[in-house]
Amino acid sequence: MNGKPLGLRSVSALLFVRVLLFQPPAGLAVESTPLVFTHVTVIDATGRPPLPNRTVIVAGNRIQAIGETGKLRTPRGAKVVDATGKFMIPGLWDMHVHFRGGAALIPGNESWLSLFVANGIVGVREMGGDIAPTVFQWRAEIATGARFGPRILTSGPKVDGPSPIWEGSFAVTDAQSARDAVRKLKTMGADFVKIYAPGFPRETFSALMDEAKRQNLSVAGHLPLDTHTVRESIDAGVKCIEHLDYYVLPGCSRSEQQIRDKYAGLESLFRQAETFDPDWARDLVARMVQHGVWVTPTLAAATLTQTTGRVDYDHDPRRRYIFPGIWRTWDPKSGGRAPFPEADEKRWERIREQSRILLKMLQAGGVGLLAGSDSGASNNFTFPGWTLHRELELMVESGLTPMQALQTATRNPARYLGELDRAGTVEAGKSADLVLLKANPLTDIRNIEEIEAVVLRGTLLARADLDKLLDDVAKAAASARTP
Ligand SMILES: [Zn+2]
Repeated sequence: MNGKPLGLRSVSALLFVRVLLFQPPAGLAVESTPLVFTHVTVIDATGRPPLPNRTVIVAGNRIQAIGETGKLRTPRGAKVVDATGKFMIPGLWDMHVHFRGGAALIPGNESWLSLFVANGIVGVREMGGDIAPTVFQWRAEIATGARFGPRILTSGPKVDGPSPIWEGSFAVTDAQSARDAVRKLKTMGADFVKIYAPGFPRETFSALMDEAKRQNLSVAGHLPLDTHTVRESIDAGVKCIEHLDYYVLPGCSRSEQQIRDKYAGLESLFRQAETFDPDWARDLVARMVQHGVWVTPTLAAATLTQTTGRVDYDHDPRRRYIFPGIWRTWDPKSGGRAPFPEADEKRWERIREQSRILLKMLQAGGVGLLAGSDSGASNNFTFPGWTLHRELELMVESGLTPMQALQTATRNPARYLGELDRAGTVEAGKSADLVLLKANPLTDIRNIEEIEAVVLRGTLLARADLDKLLDDVAKAAASARTP
């Protein structure tokens, strides 16, 4: 592809400009001008009702104080933003994304750092890919302020069975290689372990879980359901289950095991969903609460995959932000994942319906939920940032309140990461990662898209700055498209 080098050049030029514009050198950040929002309605994501007419004072990368407007003294020399009619929420986390697709797609992945921030996302949990050294580098540069972007937590390479499905995964063949893989991840600096293999033999899985515990790494991902039930996997100590439909729903069928013994792959999943038992589901929820297991449902990604080929994205306005290399991995017309057979659509609809019911049961039962988009190359049309917004909408459509949905991308990630004392809500002393909305997300969760400004670690990005970020990505993507 001739356009590649040009794309690379323009992206690094773009990032250089951005660093100059938005990223004060680390030493300066502490002394930066205090930022004051007045007359804003604070939706702090603690669960309490909105607090109208507030002043929020940001100093450095912390929220210094919040009080009724007029009752707090504005620090001398502060930059004051009149936020009358605006709503302030915590910055969003996307708890399931992928940076991947090989070296050629690195510029496209890099541009997602801007797309995430432009969509109010201040942190991402990266769930494994094939460009791990690059992702580790981005993580470090963002942490020191040398690079612009959301905070990154990453698993590094995924851990899979003997014949990994994805490029870059660690192949695990037995108990010893499972331990080796976990130790290698620890040495690389992975934040947690992402498991993928559905077919880990029991001995391999328990060795992996044991080694992860020894190395003080949590385990998140798919469950080894070819060889374990959902309950057995939970008992083994997995901290977070990804994809509610594939990996939680089967545990709501009393015939989970018998169906799996008799039917392979999707047929097994369909039949387990069709034998959903509400009492058995409640039993599972209680077990999950007991073990403190979290769930990243990825409802939006599931729908995108299942409806691929039936929805036309050729003229989607967001297409201009996606580099051609990534687009090709999304579009079935150019090698993206093929549409599911039309004949299965009714059964998928049943899965989606059952997933919505289960989601509400998990929330009601007290299982921690995390918002994740599964945005990544090869995951069809998972537009970064926008898909997270869609995920929150689907949670509300499933029966969560807008506050509960909002918490899955704010307060809950902070709880999950053990950082609720310093992040996740809009309260004094917390990190200054904020989103200012033009409309109330509690009256309509779709207002999460009405972004007026983002505060990223204390730095204000006004609407014009966010538009510039988007324009710059669109230009870089366009030049990558032109040979
Ligand atoms: Zn994923």
